[in-house]
Amino acid sequence: PGTEKPRLLDDEEGGVLFFTTSSSGGGYANLERQRQRLPVFKYRTAILYSVETRATTIVVGETGSGKTTQIPQYLKEAGWADGGRLIACTQPRRLAVQSVAARVAEEMGVRLGEEVGYTIRFEDATTQGVTMIKFLTDGVLLREMMDDPLLTKYSVIMVDEAHERSISTDILLGLLKKIQRRRPELRLVISSATIQAKSMADFFQTSKRRRRQEEEELGPIMEPAILSVEGRGFNVQIHYVEEPVADYLRAAVSTVLSIHDKEPMGDILVFLTGQDDIDAAVQLLTEETQNRRKNSSGLMVLPLYSGLPRADQELVFTPTPRGKRKVVISTNIAETSITLEGVVYVVDSGFSKQRFYNPISDIENLVVAPISKASARQRTGRAGRVRPGKCYRLYTEEYFVKEMSAEGIPEIQRSNLVSCVIQLKALGIDNILGFDWPASPSSEAMVRALEVLYSLGVLDDDAKLTSPTGFQVAEFPLDPMISKMILSSGELGCSEEIITIAAVLSVQSIWVSGWGSQKELDEAKLNFAAAEGDHVSFLNVYKAFLQSGKSSQWCHKNFVNYQAMKKVIEIREQLRRTARRLGIDLKSCERDTVVVRKAITYGFFANACHSEASSHDGKYKTIRGSQEVYIHPSSVLFRVNPKWVVYHSLVSTEKQYMRNVISIDPSWLTEAAPHFYQKQRPNPMLH
Ligand code: ADP
Ligand code: MG
Repeated sequence: PGTEKPRLLDDEEGGVLFFTTSSSGGGYANLERQRQRLPVFKYRTAILYSVETRATTIVVGETGSGKTTQIPQYLKEAGWADGGRLIACTQPRRLAVQSVAARVAEEMGVRLGEEVGYTIRFEDATTQGVTMIKFLTDGVLLREMMDDPLLTKYSVIMVDEAHERSISTDILLGLLKKIQRRRPELRLVISSATIQAKSMADFFQTSKRRRRQEEEELGPIMEPAILSVEGRGFNVQIHYVEEPVADYLRAAVSTVLSIHDKEPMGDILVFLTGQDDIDAAVQLLTEETQNRRKNSSGLMVLPLYSGLPRADQELVFTPTPRGKRKVVISTNIAETSITLEGVVYVVDSGFSKQRFYNPISDIENLVVAPISKASARQRTGRAGRVRPGKCYRLYTEEYFVKEMSAEGIPEIQRSNLVSCVIQLKALGIDNILGFDWPASPSSEAMVRALEVLYSLGVLDDDAKLTSPTGFQVAEFPLDPMISKMILSSGELGCSEEIITIAAVLSVQSIWVSGWGSQKELDEAKLNFAAAEGDHVSFLNVYKAFLQSGKSSQWCHKNFVNYQAMKKVIEIREQLRRTARRLGIDLKSCERDTVVVRKAITYGFFANACHSEASSHDGKYKTIRGSQEVYIHPSSVLFRVNPKWVVYHSLVSTEKQYMRNVISIDPSWLTEAAPHFYQKQRPNPMLH
């Protein structure tokens, strides 16, 4: 295996990472030696013994100690994948799933997709009967439970990155606890980078009486074991800023430049928040490098975020060429999910993008928000992997000590619960408030979710899934609002168009960013702009792409992301298959955009907004919560400001911006969701 050429799997958006064998220092024997040097190796026997004898094993260990890449291999070596059984390892992030699966396949000297495979939404790289270790997102594993509620094909499920407390991880933990009662032979490994292990252990604790009873039957010991892997991190010196910084982006850029000027060689990892500020920082640094050629040559500036084209992901993982210094500018994906070798300096902005949901206004969005102390410590730790390092915190020490919260809030307590509720309902869990959660969601958010699902026609008066609508909506691996939009399109005779729109909304962006100027991109977009709004513009792009013969040159010329469009075509096919299976009429409405917009409204009525007649500043109010929102500058309706719109999602920077907006007729709202809107309207009897 050591001499094998690097392989590419099919080249898709956010596709598979691949590693040249040289990237890990030459050959299989070397990789084997590297494996044995990882801290987790010393615990191999202890871990296997615990998994053998206990239902649940909790492994805590510093990031980079080998939990993710090694434990599944140990389990396989110990026979847990014999007899056609599978070992699963879940991750909260898609990019991490692909990257660790590729790494493990390489370590085992097998082709990715065979003995070691992975599954993320809309992409399955496993081979039935061959795959032994399967990496997957926790969301995908939840979906698998709809067909196989007891997850019978798995012998061991490793729930990785449990400290992140993603919403799917929490739901999964609650369900796995239930499954274990029915299937004591199922083993769980829960792994986490920080010590919240005790509360996790308490969660998996069963009552004493039950435990004795089960143990008498010679089942596994139900009490979880906690194994703590000693890291071998080096000391990291922490530097704070003296005064709060006004602009963390510029501060990050100048910190990188000053490290490069003053400090010995070693790569730099910068934590910013998302694609926008990362791209901006990359550009600033690249400009600096060109201006000050003398000093800054030798700086390789690379972005890292999910949705990054595959070629760029590769660069991040390849070793830094001699005489160069790599600067990776990342979201918090590099905090614990993936490990970059060679990092000696960390620059921590103190922020990350986090999801926040307000049940009163019923608004959920991604907000740039301060991280917790736990996150800050993780970020710092990334600098001590290869030798003593330095971490530059772009906030003051006083702020860290006095103001930063100790831990983050579990995502389930700051999310819209619509998807979560429908999934549990589809799994037959009716008493959702009584569900055994690792952390309980708020009852306001729960009530809101039930209300939306009721209005979508997904739940009935008894809060049970309706038949067929509820079951059909749950069947699509999509946000229930998008699924409902597809179902309605069947009745309205525009399912071909709506499925295209659903596919486009499922990829990161169909536009390229990062080359050419914003102005050129805006002009290119105008070629496809439709007066009705963004969704109809997507249809124009899709149609033109097909007419070009799916040409990559055409994409290049029009600032369209070729990989994303190929992915759209693939997702579209998958959705059409599901639609056909559910008996939805596949039909095109040709150019009738009224029915298309109606179908969108049938799914997204809860996101309706209205602008005051007098308002020319693009200000809208949400109809439900009277929140102030604006059309995002990237929308074709920016400055057009139709009176009534529905949006697909909100992003918030200094204002709340609606992304992907379409104009509607307000009468469609009451048609789509009488219950939902009648409650809102003032009662005429009171006047
Ligand atoms: P943990 O899950 O405990 O954070 P991992 O199993 O992800 O640790 O990583 C263990 C080691 O494997 C890392 O220290 C790194 O050296 C190596 N490694 C992991 N992923 C990759 C990769 N994509 N490319 C090269 N090396 C990797
Ligand atoms: Mg890991």
